[in-house]
Amino acid sequence: MTFTSKLLTPGLRSMGISWVIRHTLQRKKTTILMFHRPESQFFDKAITALKRRYNIIPLSTYFESIKSKEVKLPERALVLTFDDGWAENFGIFPILKKHHVPVTIFLISGIVNTMHHPWFYKVKDRAFKKELKEMSDSTRLAALKRLGFEENQIFEERIMLNKEEIQSMVESGLVEFGAHTLTHPILPRCSDSKAAKEIQQSKESTEALTHAPCKLLSFPNGEYSERDIRICKKAGFEAALTLDTGFNTGNTDHFRLKRLSAPDNGTISELLVKASGAWAYFKVFSGQQQRVRRHSGL
Ligand SMILES: [Zn+2]
Repeated sequence: MTFTSKLLTPGLRSMGISWVIRHTLQRKKTTILMFHRPESQFFDKAITALKRRYNIIPLSTYFESIKSKEVKLPERALVLTFDDGWAENFGIFPILKKHHVPVTIFLISGIVNTMHHPWFYKVKDRAFKKELKEMSDSTRLAALKRLGFEENQIFEERIMLNKEEIQSMVESGLVEFGAHTLTHPILPRCSDSKAAKEIQQSKESTEALTHAPCKLLSFPNGEYSERDIRICKKAGFEAALTLDTGFNTGNTDHFRLKRLSAPDNGTISELLVKASGAWAYFKVFSGQQQRVRRHSGL
């Protein structure tokens, strides 16, 4: 947890903001959370805390409720998603079974079930990682090559889920899988042909891994352009998840579903503030304030 979030989350919680949001803004909407590779102990406690405050539903139920009036969503509906497909996700599978909690995992489908590593795993420096995300795709790959990283490199350590783990999660009926591109580029920085390959082929390779239709995609880093949405539609995806802040209703654009980033460890207070969206809205608001200050020369 950063210093600012340490300082702010207990404050925001003690002010009851997350309670108020749950019972007003979130009450009739679907909140979607994004985890990556949560620690087992934290995740066990997190699920207990979330189940007491929200109704956890599969993402598919949200879509069914839009298609059919017969399917009614509970109040404070919550969907849990995981991006990338880390091997640790199989480590928390017993916790999902214990709590009987449905989730969706989005796979970097060219990297799971291999001994490759995602490019951002190589880069530990946060500021440099941010810089890399701003570069054009080819410049990013050239910069990574200078660091000694290539996408087809074979490592000794397997850090992503393998096919057997994915299969046993599919068979449980608790885990649904979606695509998260082949290699996790920042799509808006890619050429048309690279973006099309990353989106189309990740659908096919996710289907080969799960033996099930792949209808959903989550955008790497939550970044997308109109072109990327067009490619998703053409490739046959039915929905895409972003990191745009907010909650979802029956009217939310299926290719711009809103999600909130959840922590993989830390305190339950921090998790609850982030699950309520208060944290993300605070960040958006303070970002806007900073921009206003910059533009006004303050
Ligand atoms: Zn990702």
